[in-house]
Amino acid sequence: MIGSRRSFNGGAESFLGQEIGVLDKGYIKLVDYMGTDKTIVDAARVSYGKYPGEGAFDEVKDTRLINFLMRNGHTSPFEQCVLTFEVKAPIFVLREWHRYRTARLNEVSGRYTKLDNEVYTPSVQRIKGQDEKNKQGSAGELPLYAKEEFLFRHINQVADAFGNYRDALDVGVARELARIDLPLSTYSRMVWQMDLHNLFNFLKQRLSEGAQEEIRGYAHAIGLVVSQSFPVAWQAFLDHVLNAVTFSGTELQVLRNLLAGETNDLQSVLNLAGKLGIPFDGGKDGYKVDHQGTIEGAQEAGQDHKPAPVVVGKWAGKAVTTLDGSFFSSAKENNVERSQVKDLEGSQVAVGQEKG
Ligand SMILES: Cc1cc2nc3c(=O)[nH]c(=O)nc-3n(C[C@H](O)[C@H](O)[C@H](O)COP(=O)(O)OP(=O)(O)OC[C@H]3O[C@@H](n4cnc5c(N)ncnc54)[C@H](O)[C@@H]3O)c2cc1C
Repeated sequence: MIGSRRSFNGGAESFLGQEIGVLDKGYIKLVDYMGTDKTIVDAARVSYGKYPGEGAFDEVKDTRLINFLMRNGHTSPFEQCVLTFEVKAPIFVLREWHRYRTARLNEVSGRYTKLDNEVYTPSVQRIKGQDEKNKQGSAGELPLYAKEEFLFRHINQVADAFGNYRDALDVGVARELARIDLPLSTYSRMVWQMDLHNLFNFLKQRLSEGAQEEIRGYAHAIGLVVSQSFPVAWQAFLDHVLNAVTFSGTELQVLRNLLAGETNDLQSVLNLAGKLGIPFDGGKDGYKVDHQGTIEGAQEAGQDHKPAPVVVGKWAGKAVTTLDGSFFSSAKENNVERSQVKDLEGSQVAVGQEKG
């Protein structure tokens, strides 16, 4: 037998053929791959006529290059790496998943095949109320009776639907029609292939708190495979994409004004705090920024209240804070404009200035 000359990825090899369980009956399984972190830097260096790159992956130079590519949106070298997964997931999850047009996929056909009686049943803990802020989300506890009622009906409905399906097949109805009343919770399977650049886009969107919990579970499992298969690209993705925040021109101006001690625009400051994911609770004064950046009570802010200090960002390793209620209340009167920089240990460095 001739040994393979293709690039060997030890991380990916360790996952090949292994199911990683997701939800009650689903899984992802890596079935094939192409490339390593070195493939990315080799592809990038074609630009200078060097291909393939010589020697092993250089931890310093090549790590720096991958970070440069990720940070600056030089995406094509990442497209040279490919992962192929087998995925078993409920149809409502696959429906979100299929939106990724840059993937290549094949799914089990309910026209060719009799579908298995397998559905996703959420745990009692998973059953939440409608999130009033994130209109697509769920949040908040429901009374136990409401959860039990939901589960009871779900189980009965699924049993009915699969019973009808079987009966229809038994009397000779074609599979393509017999299936039409099966629920969205029915498990299906697909083979899904994605290049690394577009896989990072998928992960960015589906690891986000805004994504539905069920597909987020799958994204975490895929993230695990990617993190071990392309460890340097993964770290660059975490740093420059997943955990990064981009500012609009307007937000940057608020930040500049804040650092220069020249803002009295509390609403914008609170918006910024929210975007940075810094919870802020003004206590009885009623201002709140939750970790999703939702602001409560901000309309009244800057009127008669004295909010607690709020961290609004980091600058050169410092946590940027506005420090006291007088900043806000005085700013309202427009005779004091002051902000300060508090270092991470808590000692204060004033950068603002009092006026008038
Ligand atoms: C939290 C969340 C909520 C969502 N809610 C809804 C919803 O309510 N309704 C709904 O319909 N969808 C919804 N979507 C789906 C969303 O609009 C995208 O279709 C999906 O996330 C795929 O993203 P994408 O286009 O970036 O990925 P891909 O299709 O993989 O595309 C990757 C990138 O390639 C480029 N690209 C691909 N195809 C084209 C093309 N034909 N033309 C130009 N550029 C292209 C784009 O730059 C794109 O960003 C939601 C997605 C998320 C994450």
